[in-house]
Amino acid sequence: MVEVLIVGGGPVGLYLAALLLQEGVKVRILEQRTGRDLHSRAIGIHPPALAALESAGVADTMVEAGVQIRRGVAISGGRTLGSMSFAPVSDRFPFVLSLPQFTTETLLEERVNHLDSSALVRGARVTDIADDGGRVTVSIDGTPGPGGRNPSTRLSAQLLVAADGSRSSVRGLLGIKARPRSYPDHYVMGDFEDSGGHRQEAVLYLEAGGIVESFPLPGGVRRWVARVDRPTQVPDAGELARIVHRRTGVRPEPATNTMLSAFSPRSAMAQRSVAGRAVLIGDAAHEISPIGGQGMNLGWLDAAELAPLICAALAGEPVGRRLQAYAAGRRKAARLARWQSEVNMTLGRPLPRPLLALRSHAIGAVAGIPAANRLVARRFTMQ
Ligand SMILES: Cc1cc2nc3c(=O)[nH]c(=O)nc-3n(C[C@H](O)[C@H](O)[C@H](O)COP(=O)(O)OP(=O)(O)OC[C@H]3O[C@@H](n4cnc5c(N)ncnc54)[C@H](O)[C@@H]3O)c2cc1C
Repeated sequence: MVEVLIVGGGPVGLYLAALLLQEGVKVRILEQRTGRDLHSRAIGIHPPALAALESAGVADTMVEAGVQIRRGVAISGGRTLGSMSFAPVSDRFPFVLSLPQFTTETLLEERVNHLDSSALVRGARVTDIADDGGRVTVSIDGTPGPGGRNPSTRLSAQLLVAADGSRSSVRGLLGIKARPRSYPDHYVMGDFEDSGGHRQEAVLYLEAGGIVESFPLPGGVRRWVARVDRPTQVPDAGELARIVHRRTGVRPEPATNTMLSAFSPRSAMAQRSVAGRAVLIGDAAHEISPIGGQGMNLGWLDAAELAPLICAALAGEPVGRRLQAYAAGRRKAARLARWQSEVNMTLGRPLPRPLLALRSHAIGAVAGIPAANRLVARRFTMQ
């Protein structure tokens, strides 16, 4: 009999499932998609999340598949303002790992399948929830599987975890509201062959026209992200290369482009994350602006803290107080991450030249103080 139902087989749902399966918990992950989302979203995995992933037995494979970003550099007008080493932030993982989200999800899915090949049910969309105080029952709208058979339309368990993303329908079904925030920031991004000299470095170009960020990806690829003034349709590779070139002097080669996207960040915080026998985690509980790369990491850290509480609850221990402390702690962590992302977005806004010079001077000064530099590196890596 299933003990825990997880709605959503994204990175957070899969990771929680791996942790629980390792402890012998009977888990079903219900995922509406029939295949993996190939769109590239998250790339940055921070040291605390790598430590958490290690306990699910996937960190080593991820590190092998990714690029270790050892340093961040801030440049303005062709001048290096400062650099930040990630060496002091962790003995075990002194870097931010860059790995496309679909590879991350593939490795997590492989781990789940290794632990229990029937745990992940694809093509199963949860449409309703009933919590009778003893068990939670979900209604499933299934995609016909091989042989045209629909997966069972109702399933129940002792506990339910909603990891169904920022537009969480489970959150709505539980009657929990989320407060959204929007920002005057818009971005275009694309992956190109990495022909520059920065290799294992992340580079922030703080320019008058707005920030351009660039990060190494596996396979000799570099991701370019440029702030733009208004919501934009997905640009063409030539247009993005021109924006990057105009602001930074570096010209990614349009013919080598492999991914293009545009996004307008928002954030949203669920008013609460626990309701009866259900808990919201990941983007369902808190959506954070992608600028700074924290959302997926935050969701994994939710799961790492929640898994022992689930095991204790299933063993019959009273967990009410611990669950309250968990919810308050994770909310605090989400608020801090949201604040950090808002600082990052503010730093990336266009500025008139005199103000830009002042800001550059201030960044250079802070970067030059070793203690301040270490502090920023720790905050940037979610510690
Ligand atoms: C451009 C961009 C860049 C980003 N970069 C970073 C980064 O570098 N680092 C970082 O940490 N974060 C980053 N993020 C954020 C990161 O992508 C999210 O935080 C992460 O995907 C959240 O994972 P999740 O598992 O909570 O939700 P999701 O990834 O959204 O997964 C939810 C899953 O639930 C399924 N689902 C939804 N509803 C139902 C239902 N009713 N029934 C069954 N299944 C359902 C969906 O199909 C989906 O597979 C970025 C985001 C964007 C947009």
